[in-house]
Amino acid sequence: MTAPRAPLRPLDDALAELLGHAAPLSRTDSISTFEADGRVLAQDLVSTLQVPPQDNSAMDGYAVRCADVAAVGASGASGASDGLPVSQRIPAGSAAQPLQPGTVARIFTGAPVPGGADAIVMQEDTETLADGAVRVLRAPQAGQWIRRSGEDITLGAVVLRKGVRLSPAELGLAASIGLAQLPVAARPRVALFSTGDELVMPGTVPPEAMKPGAIYNSNRFFLRAMLQRLGCEVSDLGIVPDRREATVQALREASASHDLILTSGGVSVGEEDHIKPAVQALGSLDLWQIAIKPGKPFAYGRVGAAHFIGLPGNPVSSFVTFALLVRPFLLKLQGAGAITPTTMRLPAHFDWPRPDKRREFLRVRRNAQGGLDLFPNQSSGVLTSVAWGDGLVDNPPGHAIARGEAVTYISLSDLLA
Ligand code: AMP
Ligand code: MG
Repeated sequence: MTAPRAPLRPLDDALAELLGHAAPLSRTDSISTFEADGRVLAQDLVSTLQVPPQDNSAMDGYAVRCADVAAVGASGASGASDGLPVSQRIPAGSAAQPLQPGTVARIFTGAPVPGGADAIVMQEDTETLADGAVRVLRAPQAGQWIRRSGEDITLGAVVLRKGVRLSPAELGLAASIGLAQLPVAARPRVALFSTGDELVMPGTVPPEAMKPGAIYNSNRFFLRAMLQRLGCEVSDLGIVPDRREATVQALREASASHDLILTSGGVSVGEEDHIKPAVQALGSLDLWQIAIKPGKPFAYGRVGAAHFIGLPGNPVSSFVTFALLVRPFLLKLQGAGAITPTTMRLPAHFDWPRPDKRREFLRVRRNAQGGLDLFPNQSSGVLTSVAWGDGLVDNPPGHAIARGEAVTYISLSDLLA
């Protein structure tokens, strides 16, 4: 007797249910701002100062009072004009004295504007006279080339919100308000297992000595790298042992010290494998058939306090289901706010006349003409398609694509970030 076939589930439903299980972890870390790239902020960051702290010069030049320049006349406006003496020199990092009336101050980019000055004249718009006085060649506008205190960040402003995933610009922004340490969500602890008796680890058997039916374990390499990019602490537990008791034991041990147990392979309908009964013996397991191609089989369950996710074994299916489902799950565990990748509409420079009934994620690459080329072999076993491609086309169920048509593109660099 065959098990009754579960109806295929739309991806969005499966994702919503999966995210419903992803309660954010309560553990947080305080880490060096230098180390925080890719981590998720656990608290709002509030500025305790103005940035910039004082009005400062945007140019190398002279701080002036516009009225004083007008009084001696700018060159060209009233013919020959007199210069104004230079009363102080203000390099960046030094404190300025109030500007003496009837004078200008030599000033450099980033240096504080002296009290009383109301404009900066760039040095290219000046001429130094024989007596050292400075003649302004173009009448200044009040406020020109002054960067105002607080024009970037005001005192008390929330600079970055809890749930933001930090990237290089955010690290710089946090540093600009004086933060050397940042509160971030703890790294999810993930135990990674592979299943499948055909799998051989690269390095253990050379290609020419591989037995018939044996293949190298490739999923383990990209899954581990993708987990690490998502900020996870990965325990790579290798290939699940071939015996039921050993599998139960391995899963039980992993569940005690991990937030997620992730496996690839062995989740196809009706497949005999050790993972399924072992997870069921220790907790619960739902096998889902998701209406996407590649990537139909997917399993979610619990082993003790740990989440369990089983990915399909076919490398492209494993890759795509990780990107579409596991990635948002892990970001939500870290309390990240924005977890859906951005999409854009781009013209297909290919035909796709025989679409699948399921929603497809086609491996494509942007070309120099601003369109998308399709990798010729879209089989779920062909990992070359993902390495060649730079994105996925999210193609609705049953939709044939005609060359020139706008399609929905998701960049792999977004999905791998
Ligand atoms: P399964 O989901 O276990 O039925 O596997 C589907 C296909 O993916 C089979 O051809 C497996 O040999 C292959 N496969 C499973 N796991 C891996 C892996 N870790 N690396 C490469 N191929 C795999
Ligand atoms: Mg298998």
